[in-house]
Amino acid sequence: MTASQPSLDVLVVGGGNAALCAALMAREAGCSVRILESAPQLWRGGNSTHTRNLRCMHDAPQDVLIESYPEEEFWQDLLKVTGGLTNEEMARIAIRHSATCRPWMFKHGVRFQPSLSGALHTARTNAFFMGGGKALINAYFRSAQNLGIAIDYDCTVVDLEIQEGHFRAAKAVHQLPDGSTRQEWIEAKSCVLACGGFESNLDKLKAAWGQNEWGEWTAENFLVRGTRYNHGVLIDVLKDLGADMIGDATQAHMVAIDARAPLYDGGICTRIDCVSLGVVVNKFAQRFYDEGEDFWPKRYAIWGRLVALQPGQIAYSITDAKAVGRFMPPVFDGTVCNTLEELAQTLGLDQEAFMKTLNDYNQACQVGHFDHTTLDDCHTQGLTPVKSHWALPINTPPFYAYPVRPGITFTYLGLKTDKTTAVHFAGQPSQNLFVAGEMMSGNVLGQGYTAGVGMTIGTAFGRIAGSSAALSVKAQGEKHPGPPTDSHLLSRVKHASA
Ligand SMILES: Cc1cc2nc3c(=O)[nH]c(=O)nc-3n(C[C@H](O)[C@H](O)[C@H](O)COP(=O)(O)OP(=O)(O)OC[C@H]3O[C@@H](n4cnc5c(N)ncnc54)[C@H](O)[C@@H]3O)c2cc1C
Repeated sequence: MTASQPSLDVLVVGGGNAALCAALMAREAGCSVRILESAPQLWRGGNSTHTRNLRCMHDAPQDVLIESYPEEEFWQDLLKVTGGLTNEEMARIAIRHSATCRPWMFKHGVRFQPSLSGALHTARTNAFFMGGGKALINAYFRSAQNLGIAIDYDCTVVDLEIQEGHFRAAKAVHQLPDGSTRQEWIEAKSCVLACGGFESNLDKLKAAWGQNEWGEWTAENFLVRGTRYNHGVLIDVLKDLGADMIGDATQAHMVAIDARAPLYDGGICTRIDCVSLGVVVNKFAQRFYDEGEDFWPKRYAIWGRLVALQPGQIAYSITDAKAVGRFMPPVFDGTVCNTLEELAQTLGLDQEAFMKTLNDYNQACQVGHFDHTTLDDCHTQGLTPVKSHWALPINTPPFYAYPVRPGITFTYLGLKTDKTTAVHFAGQPSQNLFVAGEMMSGNVLGQGYTAGVGMTIGTAFGRIAGSSAALSVKAQGEKHPGPPTDSHLLSRVKHASA
């Protein structure tokens, strides 16, 4: 360790959307930048590779976006889905940023296309990436390489050295081709952490969710929709180092996905999108929530949690022939039967209970003018739970069932931050440690979700984090922070041996 300043300006931990936005911004501001990505090159990009779009405010039609989606409407949507558990200042920063970020994204190779039919009522609100998130990530990595950003794959940061809120170094573990590992402490003037939540860490999820009233470990039946590399290691490290945290460990974006999906990386095609077109029953053949509460983009991310709270963490989405063609077809075929009785039997559900649930529902349907693109007047009457919209009797064979389990997308527990994205220690912002993406999404999302806002948060705060890191480097150039002290060296030893 020398007393001189590190030669690297900005270290970026993570290789997803937020990390790349930060890295590109810092590089554009003239900094030297190094990215450390836990995944091998083939699997780079984290959950961002699975995405399709970002939610954008706009006051008038803009290239691929129709009509308008003003700031206030976006804010009200967010307020509603989070039930008020959001920080208005941070939310509005992300919203406003979404109006202006696309030309910058375009400059770095991202291309957009209009929403396709079958997507979730999103032609007005969400800009779709041509080629999906994988193409976006590839474009950003290509741009990063062209700009001379150094990139390490197979490189996981497992520890940090922080001295009085000041980032000094990150401990990286390199996976080598022969299966061995090499450790390295990497110093930098400034650091951006954008390495996701802890959704891929089933042990941590198990600890957070605990056992339910039936003695089951709820998280044992979770499926991870995206990357296997987001383990929340640095969230734990920072908590231990006294960083201010935000969020509840059980709050997450959780979707009802096909129970037959793989444990990791099933992606978008395992989502079951016909919930609002039928009913959903648990393993006791009981309905448990309003399937037509609101437009699917504002509700799909609560259904994973709802299923998680059911016995056995399993449920069945039931529709009839009328629903076919009205939702994105799932990758796996549904169970198809010509009678509801047969469907119950094939699913192994109590036939009597199932028929009562379906008959009660069918009789309660007050059919008006069915319109899946509006909050229509088809609803149930005298039924608990109610179905508020799109309630048509399930009476047209063949009948379909899709088994669903909780599919976790990303967790909300993370680091408390502010409009500069600084990590806070006892209320004080760090001068050179910043955070972006899922790791700080809890500042905007206390609970709930609205489609496309994950990439809005990652893009907005990723770019801000990159700028903040560059400003920090500049400020340090003007005022040398001084050599490391004994306590700083001791803290590295302590964490290295932990
Ligand atoms: C199937 C699916 C579909 C989605 N669709 C959409 C959508 O259409 N629109 C939308 O807005 N959002 C969507 N999301 C959510 C979206 O993916 C996230 O909100 C967003 O990608 C988060 O970006 P991020 O950069 O914070 O995290 P990630 O993209 O997950 O990146 C985290 C990165 O950190 C790396 N990493 C983790 N730990 C370490 C470590 N210790 N050291 C080094 N590197 C590490 C990982 O390998 C990864 O590269 C979707 C998610 C999934 C799973």
